[in-house]
Amino acid sequence: MSPSAVPAARDRLRIAIQKSGRLGEPARALLASCGLSWRESRDKLFCYGETLPVDLLLVRDDDIPGLLADGVCDYGIVGRNVLEEFAAERAGGGKPAVSKEIRPLGFGGCRLDIAVPDAWEWEGPQQLQGKRIATSYPGLLAKWLAEQQVEAGVVMLSGSVEIAPRLGQADVICDLVSSGATLVANQLKPAVTIMQSEAVLAGPLQPFSDIRGELAQMLLRRLDGVLRLKDSRLLMFQAQRKEVPALLELLPDAEQPTLLQVDGADTLALQALCHGAMTWQRLEDLKRAGARGLMVLPVERMLA
Ligand code: ATP
Ligand code: ZN
Repeated sequence: MSPSAVPAARDRLRIAIQKSGRLGEPARALLASCGLSWRESRDKLFCYGETLPVDLLLVRDDDIPGLLADGVCDYGIVGRNVLEEFAAERAGGGKPAVSKEIRPLGFGGCRLDIAVPDAWEWEGPQQLQGKRIATSYPGLLAKWLAEQQVEAGVVMLSGSVEIAPRLGQADVICDLVSSGATLVANQLKPAVTIMQSEAVLAGPLQPFSDIRGELAQMLLRRLDGVLRLKDSRLLMFQAQRKEVPALLELLPDAEQPTLLQVDGADTLALQALCHGAMTWQRLEDLKRAGARGLMVLPVERMLA
C-alpha cells in the first residue's frame, strides 16, 4: 500500500513493538500495566489481544516506522532515533511525514553522538569538514551536517560502527551512546550530541475515524496515568498548622495536597502525590521542618 493511501477501517488496534532487544520487554511491560494482555500465536510474531482488542506485532525495531507508514500497524514503540531517521530519509527524498511521536516513554534513553579518537582535541563541528563519518543514521547525520554547514563524507554501516576508525574505514563515528563504555573500549570519546533519544510511542498524524479512535483514546489515557505515576509516591504526615507553609515549600513537586484536621485546630494530617524521588534526605529535611509520622506509599493506579 502506498503511504498516502487511506488505511482500511479496522475494529482492532495493532501496536508494533521490538521482538527482542533493548525495547521489547519494557514496551510489553508498559502496555501490560495499561491493562492489556495477549494470547500469543505459535510463531510469536503476532499476539492477539485478550482483555481489549489491541494486538501486538513483534518485529525488528528498524521495521516499525515503515509498518506505520504502510498502515500495517497503528502505533509502534520505537527509539526516537529510529523514527526520526526514517523521517529524515523520507524528507531527504522529498517525501512528506507519515507518522509522529505521540508520547516519550521514559525508557531506552541514549544519545546519538559524534565520537572522535581519544587523541583529538575537539574544537567544534567545523573540525569535521572533509572527514569521513561512519554511521547507521545517515539521514540524521546529513541533516545535522547541513545545519552546521559542514561537508563531510558519510560512510553507512549497519553495525559495528565503533570499530570503523580503527579499521581505517572512517575518521570519526556518529553512533548511539548510553554509558560510553563501548567508546572507551575503542579509544573514542564523545564530542557532540546530535540527538537525545528514548523509546517513544509513534502513531498516525491524524486521529482514526473508526472504532480505533475510541480504543486509542482509552489507551492513551491509561498510558498517561501509568507514565505520570512512574516515579510518583503518596506522601503522608502530620504537622502543626503553623509549620505547613514551610513544609509545602519543601514539596515543589507535590500536587495540590489534602489537609485534614486531626485534633483541635492545630494538628493537621497532610497527604500529597509527589512526582519527584522521595529520598531519605528529603524525608529527613521534612522531619526537621516539623513533619511527624512520615509515610511514603506506592500508587498503583490513577485516572485523572
Ligand atoms: P533489532 O534486532 O530489533 O533490529 P537492534 O540491535 O537494532 O535490534 P537494540 O540494540 O535492541 O536494537 O536497540 C534498540 C533501541 O534501543 C535503539 O534504537 C535505541 O533507541 C535504544 N538504545 C538505548 N541505549 C542504547 C545503546 N547503548 N545502544 C544502542 N541502542 C540503544
Ligand atoms: Zn534494529
